[in-house]
Amino acid sequence: MERLKRRDALKLMGIGGASLLTGTSPASAEARLSAPSSKKEARIVIVGGGTGGITVAARLRRSTPNAKITLIAPNEIHLYQSGQVYVAAGLYSEYDNKRRTKDLLPDKVNWLQDKVTAFIPDSNKVHTEKNGDIPYDYLIVALGCEYDYSSIEGLDLSDIGKDGIASVHLNDLDKGTSQGAIISRIWLKSIRRRAAKSDLKILFADPSTPIKGEGASLDMLFLANDRLKGNGLRKKGQDLHQKASLILTKADKTLFPSPEIDRALKKELKAAGNVTVHYDHILKHIDREKKVALYSHGDDIVEIPYDYLHITPAMQPPKALLDSGLTVQEGKHKGWLEVDGETLQNPRYPNVFGIGDVTGLPSGKSGGAIREQAIVLQDNIAAILEEKKLPIYYNGYSVSPIKTRYGKVMLAEYTPKGLLPTFPLDPSKPRWIWWAMDLHLMRRAYFDLMMRGMM
Ligand SMILES: Cc1cc2nc3c(=O)[nH]c(=O)nc-3n(C[C@H](O)[C@H](O)[C@H](O)COP(=O)(O)OP(=O)(O)OC[C@H]3O[C@@H](n4cnc5c(N)ncnc54)[C@H](O)[C@@H]3O)c2cc1C
Repeated sequence: MERLKRRDALKLMGIGGASLLTGTSPASAEARLSAPSSKKEARIVIVGGGTGGITVAARLRRSTPNAKITLIAPNEIHLYQSGQVYVAAGLYSEYDNKRRTKDLLPDKVNWLQDKVTAFIPDSNKVHTEKNGDIPYDYLIVALGCEYDYSSIEGLDLSDIGKDGIASVHLNDLDKGTSQGAIISRIWLKSIRRRAAKSDLKILFADPSTPIKGEGASLDMLFLANDRLKGNGLRKKGQDLHQKASLILTKADKTLFPSPEIDRALKKELKAAGNVTVHYDHILKHIDREKKVALYSHGDDIVEIPYDYLHITPAMQPPKALLDSGLTVQEGKHKGWLEVDGETLQNPRYPNVFGIGDVTGLPSGKSGGAIREQAIVLQDNIAAILEEKKLPIYYNGYSVSPIKTRYGKVMLAEYTPKGLLPTFPLDPSKPRWIWWAMDLHLMRRAYFDLMMRGMM
């Protein structure tokens, strides 16, 4: 099982692809058997036109055919954010990751191109910038999260792309642009050019907040090192990786939320030979002129010099949620949308649901998590309309395809309780088959199946 021949791997990709495409991953298998629907009328409002908003709109269109579904979102263009790393890697163009929102939305979903400025759950309505109050019977919040680059003193958003600083996450979802992906592509090229002339220190800084795209900073580290080894280029190049020291800083004591994946990643990093990880380090300040990053480490301030710096920004709940009465009040998830971890329902307002990055849950923030959550909302909202018992619960599934080199992915599928692999293979082992699936199948599956509520 561990040593797959290329032909067997292709077969498995077919089966794996098919299982992903038909939605029979472990988390959703049970759901596919139930699939309840309701012909009742209701006003369902979805806020946000990203992965969660569009997926759940497509699913509800089927399970509640007589509901009046309104999606409120400003973005003309929808971005496949998972593809940003492949843009940086030089394997996709930015254009590959874009579709027009109107082409993705299902028929008979009313799109209000607008932004919600306030939630008024006591009156079952949201307030919008241009269209005033919009009433609902059921509300689904799919606002995603916001970046907070300003938590790093000395860094202005306009500095990203200058003086050796990159950030693959950087995008503007309202505008449908992903400038961070293009900057990171140039950054990777520049690193290799510089390493040919001098020794380098390359710093990768992760924040202390929850992160969407959990593996993206590791992707950037592994891909940078692999490029230095001469891979990922048109023609294999000279191995320069010993000329670079790579330093990854983490705010807590782990690399990854799943202990099995954490152990496997530590092994990968050790094997690289030129990577150091500093735990309990929070990036506070950058001196761009001196190229020094200042960290808080317990009670100390630690200086780390760099030639190149990759930043994964702190992430925070959308400002529109402030004072909404819908957020977690205390603890690690304070300020994020409060939902029950299994039903995705707000505990104070049972007609309000959440999906995706905006939710204050211990599970990972990913498109893969949304695929499972959307099935839960599809079936449960139909059941609620029929006044039936809820048929399905979210199990905390998330996924992170970590690119450990050009041509290899470690497919981390996990819940807060442990690994939950879709395939009968050790998920902690990087494989070509996962790389091929992630690079060649997933984007198409995302746009053509997931966004249409079929995966
Ligand atoms: C670099 C990177 C790599 C990633 N890699 C992977 C991966 O490999 N696999 C994976 O599964 N996931 C990955 N992810 C994560 C995945 O893309 C996100 O988890 C997912 O897209 C989140 O979907 P969402 O619907 O919660 O929010 P988003 O898709 O972020 O959408 C939020 C929407 O809300 C809208 N909005 C914002 N404010 C308002 C407002 N006030 N009113 C109305 N609308 C508003 C925005 O315009 C946008 O349409 C990655 C993410 C990044 C950035």
